[in-house]
Amino acid sequence: MPTYMYRCSECDEFDVVQPMSASTTTHQCPACGKSARRVFTAPALSTTSGAVTRATDIAAASSEAPQVVRSIPSGTTPPRNPRWSPFTGASPVPAKRRTPGPYQPLPKL
Ligand SMILES: [Zn+2]
Repeated sequence: MPTYMYRCSECDEFDVVQPMSASTTTHQCPACGKSARRVFTAPALSTTSGAVTRATDIAAASSEAPQVVRSIPSGTTPPRNPRWSPFTGASPVPAKRRTPGPYQPLPKL
């Protein structure tokens, strides 16, 4: 059932959930009993999928009360490039895997 918004001239706005067949341009104010006029608003249509909506809701909830993570969550896959990790950053390349540079190595003393 749709939700209709009404605005009372004496009080404030209020919502009424009622069938479309019962919607009228006026409704009795629940606070003062006077006749309130219907307010036309944009319909609450959603074009996003359920997964996107859930992810958006989780992100919004996390911004309000962030959860503290003390370890790497289980189930995460290791990075594809072992030389870089989002947790440890870059790691040195082993000497035998380094490509030789244009310069001769320094003599050992
Ligand atoms: Zn009222």
